[in-house]
Amino acid sequence: MKKYAAPIMLLAVFEITAVTLWLTKDNPFYLFNFSYIGCSIALSMFLFIRRQRHARRVAQLLVGSYMLVYLGLISRENMQIEGFWYYLFTGVFEAATIHYAVAKIFGPLIFGRGWCGYACWTAMVLDFLPYKTPSQPRKRIGWIRYVTFALSLAFVAGLFLAHAQNMEHIMFQAFIIGNIAYYAVGIILAFALKDNRAFCKYICPVTIFLKPMSYFSLLRITCDKEKCISCGKCRRVCPMNVDMTDNSRKRENGTECILCMECRMNCPKNAL
Ligand code: SF4
Ligand code: SF4
Ligand code: SF4
Repeated sequence: MKKYAAPIMLLAVFEITAVTLWLTKDNPFYLFNFSYIGCSIALSMFLFIRRQRHARRVAQLLVGSYMLVYLGLISRENMQIEGFWYYLFTGVFEAATIHYAVAKIFGPLIFGRGWCGYACWTAMVLDFLPYKTPSQPRKRIGWIRYVTFALSLAFVAGLFLAHAQNMEHIMFQAFIIGNIAYYAVGIILAFALKDNRAFCKYICPVTIFLKPMSYFSLLRITCDKEKCISCGKCRRVCPMNVDMTDNSRKRENGTECILCMECRMNCPKNAL
């Protein structure tokens, strides 16, 4: 049972969040929502422990499609960054503000960029593309993420300043158009740079929150130097160009780790 402690603990954290939000917000939706997400991720961790190769993809598909189809398209909640700004400006701690607080702002202090590896609906599609490991060095175009971040903020601030009518409908349209744009740019960039995660590395505005918070992450890949034979296999399979053999927090691309476990699964010496 000891080896299943991590998924059990994670499920417990999600259940505590689910019950707390259900009772404080007096809304049973939160009980269902966080229980579903917790169970999906715990199932994926359980499968990983059982050495199932596609364990991560299970969580990615279960959570990603639920958020995109049920929360986004059916419930018409904009869970993208524009939705976060919208709820933040209206001063409501609901939907996107809760989602961002848990998955993208405070959660990464515990589970780093687990969101990017196990739940994001953009990466859920991008990870099906053929370039799972980058064949070229990283480009120096990471500044683009600051532009997309500023544009998303300016777009929503502009709507408020212009006293736009029917904001909820505009937010739903923004969700549809934003997702189509993310998928289109993500797929084009993946083929152009031969790297499935190019969108995550250079364009995604959410990384402005994710990267600094995940720097302090409790959960992280570390290397046992006694076991490591410096074969370099781990770095070759990493989709995010992380130097996981360096245990310092300042390691190369350390805040890019999505906890996909590819390095761990491929290490011949179980050093990670
Ligand atoms: S970087 Fe952005 S697009 Fe990529 S997985 Fe994370 S949240 Fe999703
Ligand atoms: S794959 Fe394992 S043994 Fe090889 S360099 Fe990485 S940590 Fe060391
Ligand atoms: S391969 Fe390892 S270091 Fe790279 S993103 Fe996945 S878990 Fe992180």
